Amino acid sequence: MALRIRPDLLSLPAYKAGQKLAAREGQRVFKLSSNESPHPPLAPVVEAIARAAFEVNRYPDPLNSALVHALAAKLAVPAEAIACSTGSVALLGNLLEVMCEPGDEVIYAWRSFEAYPIWAQLTGATSVQVALNERAGHDLEAMAAAITNRTRVIIVCTPNNPTGTAVAAAEFEAFMAKVPQDVLVVVDEAYCEYVTDAQAVSGLAAWHQHPNVAVLRTFSKAYGLAGLRVGYTVAPLELADFLRRAALPFGVSSVAQAAALASLDAEAQLLARVREVVAERERVVAALRESGWQVEDMQANFVWLGLPQGPAAAQAACEAAGLAVRPFPEGLRVTVGEPAANDLLIEALTALRG
Ligand SMILES: *Cc1c(COP(=O)(O)O)cnc(C)c1O
Repeated sequence: MALRIRPDLLSLPAYKAGQKLAAREGQRVFKLSSNESPHPPLAPVVEAIARAAFEVNRYPDPLNSALVHALAAKLAVPAEAIACSTGSVALLGNLLEVMCEPGDEVIYAWRSFEAYPIWAQLTGATSVQVALNERAGHDLEAMAAAITNRTRVIIVCTPNNPTGTAVAAAEFEAFMAKVPQDVLVVVDEAYCEYVTDAQAVSGLAAWHQHPNVAVLRTFSKAYGLAGLRVGYTVAPLELADFLRRAALPFGVSSVAQAAALASLDAEAQLLARVREVVAERERVVAALRESGWQVEDMQANFVWLGLPQGPAAAQAACEAAGLAVRPFPEGLRVTVGEPAANDLLIEALTALRG
């Protein structure tokens, strides 16, 4: 007899992780398909991981107390507002579980992060996808217009994955004025450390302004801990309490907690690395524009090429150059990597224009 999987999940897509290229004779290959940091972990972080490894016979602190308190001090928010989990993606799932019943609506821009439709469908909520504007940014007016009395959550991904555009603070405030206070607005700030546009919204500032804003942040990107799975939210207090209850017990490993703490201690060095990536991003964007590519203002650690004809030709050119990239039906996302990888990218894409 066949198992009875929830019929509403039969169309559930699988998360597509960024691919690697196989190593090739005489050619360096680079993984620019998952927006990871190109830098290996700092020595003090590796040492903290090694020290934590000696105690992995014990369960981790289920409340992530040391990490929560370090984050509360750094961000100047109450510890009760913070919840940690196995990556910010897990917190998003918990948020939707806590907020949505079957038939409730979750609004988000599209194209955006592909975890959103998967989590929405798992909770039984209905995804309401609002097309990006012609500059590959959030159309917040259309998102506000999509609110109904079934709307429970609106996700704003800024900078947006995969298009790299950030929402302006003024636009965000105009949007919030139209959002009922019982609707949760999730500001997914996975890439906030890479933002240089002074007009861009700060999720944390929005959390201070509005009782219905939750911010999602991660150690996976700027902090270089993608392999350890740890992220956090700064949420309305009553919601953070439910997120702690909904969390996978002992989800964040002791090794990940130790690495995150050591990363906060080494923040100055990590943010110096972020500035290097930002400088490389600007170099790549300028070079691509120079060779005729239309590129919007990129605010994360990747560049987006909108390709109405599809990504195949650009993807093939990158892969021939040894670069694994991330294709989407309407464009190509390429992580800013080490300078040698970025040189290859510029060369490959310039040749494609020429
Ligand atoms: C990478 C990414 C995350 C982070 O996911 P983790 O689970 O913390 O690794 C969250 N949101 C977006 C939009 C991302 O691109």
